[in-house]
Amino acid sequence: VSRSFIVAANWKMNKGPIESVEFLSEFFSLFTKWPKCEIVIFPPAIDLVSVARMIEEKPLRWGAQNCHFEDNGAFTGENSPKVIAELGADYTLVGHSERRKIFGEIDEMLAKKIVAVQRHNMIPMLCVGEELSERESGKTNLVITEQLKKGLSQANLETKIVLAYEPVWAIGTGKVATPEQAEDAHAVLRKMLIEIGGESLSERTPILYGGSVKPENAAELSKKPNIDGFLVGGAALAPASYAGIIKNSQLAF
Ligand code: PEP
Repeated sequence: VSRSFIVAANWKMNKGPIESVEFLSEFFSLFTKWPKCEIVIFPPAIDLVSVARMIEEKPLRWGAQNCHFEDNGAFTGENSPKVIAELGADYTLVGHSERRKIFGEIDEMLAKKIVAVQRHNMIPMLCVGEELSERESGKTNLVITEQLKKGLSQANLETKIVLAYEPVWAIGTGKVATPEQAEDAHAVLRKMLIEIGGESLSERTPILYGGSVKPENAAELSKKPNIDGFLVGGAALAPASYAGIIKNSQLAF
């Protein structure tokens, strides 16, 4: 399989421009040899200019945690995908569960955001995941495949898309999905990708796992054939633990 292994950091609403730059210089110093996986940082939007400058020379990718679906206009408080792309972002996260739950983002809106991200030649990283009650009532596969289908309903399927499976009950709770639970969900998503865009889309689309990933559980999870990387929240706030996740994942490469 030619899918790259991706370890992404979602800093959420943490760190300012100065802390971001401090994080990165410490993080870079932790590697004598640059890892073979792809590393992606999602800082708060207000830090993107500083991060972009700092990353210019490094083989590291970055992106925004969210964007609007229009390029400009009367959308107080929002960030334009056009501007995020102009700053040099490679990625934008779409549909993180906190955006869905706290900010009321619905699948129809997320489908438009995917289009906007692609319009500016960035890679959308679409997040899907079930709530605990949905898992307990046996609805996991239905929920995540619906989120996937609706999210990609207007997308260009010829260019790169990345998915993140993030069970809501595992995000920020310290409760990690077992490697088997994650692998099962990833396999379901991979199958749905065939339905959506054929074998090629399914084969080449990386599916990351997110939800309480730490250096201690990264190795086991990364061995699963359908787990192509991680989206990390809490454990990506400190350079050492983020680097630990990357190094432990590499054991499985
Ligand atoms: C996330 O917010 O995408 C996430 C996975 O958070 P955490 O690693 O803290 O569970």
